[in-house]
Amino acid sequence: MPKIAKIVTEVSLNQEFDYKIPQAMRNELKIGSQVNIPFNNRDIKGFVVGFSNFSKFENNLKSITDIIGDKPLIPHSVINLAYWMSDYYCSPIENAIKTLLPSVIRKKSTQYKKQFSATLLADTKENITSLQRKIVNYLKKNGSSLIIDIQKKFNCSISPIKTLAKNEVITIEEVKIRRNPFCNTDLVPTQPFQLNNEQQNALKKIKENLEKITSSVTLLHGVTGSGKTEVYLQSIDHVIKKNQGAIMLVPEIALTPQTVNRFRARFGEIVSVLHSSLSEGERHDEWHRIFDGSAKIVVGARSALFSPIKNLGLIILDEEHEPTYKQEESPRYHARDVAVMRGKIDNCAVLLGSATPSLESIQNVNCGKYDIVKMNNRIDSKKMPLIRTIDMAREIEEIGHPSLFSRELINAIYDRLNKNEQVILFLNRRGFSSSVMCEKCGYVNECNSCSVTKHYHKTFNKFICHICGEEEEFPNKCPQCGDPAFKFSGSGTEKIEETLLKLCPNAKIERMDSDSMRKKDSYEKVFSKFKTGKIDILIGTQMIAKGLDFPNVTLVGVLNADLSLYVPDFRAGERTLQLLTQVSGRAGRGNILGEVLIQTYTPHHPAIEASRTLNLKGFISQDLKFREEMNYPPFSHIVLVNISGPKEDIVVNCINSFYNELSKIIPKEVKILKPLPASILKIRGLFRYQILLSSKYTAKITKPVKYILENAKFPKEIKIIIDVDALTLS
Ligand code: ADP
Ligand code: ZN
Repeated sequence: MPKIAKIVTEVSLNQEFDYKIPQAMRNELKIGSQVNIPFNNRDIKGFVVGFSNFSKFENNLKSITDIIGDKPLIPHSVINLAYWMSDYYCSPIENAIKTLLPSVIRKKSTQYKKQFSATLLADTKENITSLQRKIVNYLKKNGSSLIIDIQKKFNCSISPIKTLAKNEVITIEEVKIRRNPFCNTDLVPTQPFQLNNEQQNALKKIKENLEKITSSVTLLHGVTGSGKTEVYLQSIDHVIKKNQGAIMLVPEIALTPQTVNRFRARFGEIVSVLHSSLSEGERHDEWHRIFDGSAKIVVGARSALFSPIKNLGLIILDEEHEPTYKQEESPRYHARDVAVMRGKIDNCAVLLGSATPSLESIQNVNCGKYDIVKMNNRIDSKKMPLIRTIDMAREIEEIGHPSLFSRELINAIYDRLNKNEQVILFLNRRGFSSSVMCEKCGYVNECNSCSVTKHYHKTFNKFICHICGEEEEFPNKCPQCGDPAFKFSGSGTEKIEETLLKLCPNAKIERMDSDSMRKKDSYEKVFSKFKTGKIDILIGTQMIAKGLDFPNVTLVGVLNADLSLYVPDFRAGERTLQLLTQVSGRAGRGNILGEVLIQTYTPHHPAIEASRTLNLKGFISQDLKFREEMNYPPFSHIVLVNISGPKEDIVVNCINSFYNELSKIIPKEVKILKPLPASILKIRGLFRYQILLSSKYTAKITKPVKYILENAKFPKEIKIIIDVDALTLS
């Protein structure tokens, strides 16, 4: 057994430290074990990442103080995954290791909740009080019970229970109490559906890949409502029967309670969830259910990818195209790519599902890296909704004034209200209006910390910055010239709500966006109101685009489809198509044919046309061709070097010297653009400049970038972010 352990601490130095392993620990210590170590006269925690018999510092080594827990908290394969992330995403290894575990586990900030429980040892014939007799009978009938429950039941003090224990009639012990994150514990169990042909075909392909000796990736491209989730369920069932476990990733779990419930209804207690709205205690208990093997399936947001599922057989990513799979802090990893890597390391199958796959995944299919299966029809041959675009430029010309609602959309809404059907209206902008200007002097309210104007939120009567959240009372007259007339433009969901209330005063209208959903349970509340028909029209941002499956929704209206189209990003078209398809997919999931009306100023834009015709082929091949010509992803990898700081001139100096140094050592085949201000120059008081690099191979960029990071000195207040495979260029 080696004498020296390599340890990664929580101090972000991108460095392993050598420690001596005391003789007594040599058998117990494993890769992935958490340990206490002395470090600069303090005691800190760290993880064992490797072993060695030699160390450069042999004579000065300190010893590990003790091992925490009786088995390693992180599986060896997941430690390897962290090293890959650290290298690929240019992130200090400490950050990569940190992401592997929920902080409540890493820091041990919570323990199990424990309570005392009583168990009957032997029935007694002896003379006991009638209350004691009742308690004995209760335990006989119900088995071991919590003492607080017994006390509640018989409204008694602890003393009769203590007496029974003293007389050895019962025994008392401390037991773990699970903090259960599922409020509705009474789900009706479901049986697998008889799959239709397309689903059978998909499941067959997945099963084939599950049998393979090496890892493989399957892309399941299925239209909304084609029954992808049922395919996930049956694939997992297959994996469980082989005595393996599965990870099921969903983009924003708090917004998809229906999905989680479908897993629980099928698999019961072996399903665990991990997401950000769990309490610390719930997260602790859920994680330990996975760790000790009692949960075999984890459904969760991206970090659930690192769960210590035993004998991992399958990783599924639903809505694989979703940008929320990218973590926007170090390590800036993309869960899809890390899932594929974990598949390789753990030798398990990976399944990516989407109605609008990312061009990255499509390209991986085209070049033979991934398999693809398609499901082109909705379940029970339910028709896809009728989708039409409404040319708003023409509409305004015809009616002679600007309008939020076209005549066609408003008539369609009236029609559904008459028939008692439900409507979803989508606009991807919250607040009342995105721009407020004084009509007289042209004053606009710019954020103090960011180089953007604040949005007006009527409900709060405030100006709010959508970047940093800074708020300010809305003035009743222009702060600059005192004129009371403001010009509002760029309507948001609040404005839609206000206008709609005037247009249909009798309808029950509700708004769902991050403003109206500030409380923890507001989502569930609106959700169940909508389900039970207490809402006629639901207005919302992309929050309503996901997962909602309500059969009575027969009309979906998109107020302004162009919002996501004109952002300076080569993925704008792809994003718009994904968003519109997802929103459209909410219509007509029941027995009545659904209708989708998309208001746009650019009805002939390829992304809008593709969302209307549901024919993605044309758009995909055109966009791929454009990306290939421009050498954008998926034909290259891009890396963004972002430098920011409180003083603009210092930031400019730093980015220029970074650029100069980098240009000297960067290989010729890497394309490097001159430093530019980021499209939002200032965020939270920091000025931002960036260098964009692209290459077929990420390492050709990251190697020299790391060299500069390690060798160049920058002022303390300067922040450098390396974003590998950046998803947003702003
Ligand atoms: P997707 O995930 O592709 O949007 P879902 O899995 O949510 O589609 O399926 C849509 C609806 O069809 C759900 O209500 C689901 O319960 C139902 N469903 C799925 N597969 C079948 C099947 N084979 N037979 C009958 N109903 C099914
Ligand atoms: Zn701001």
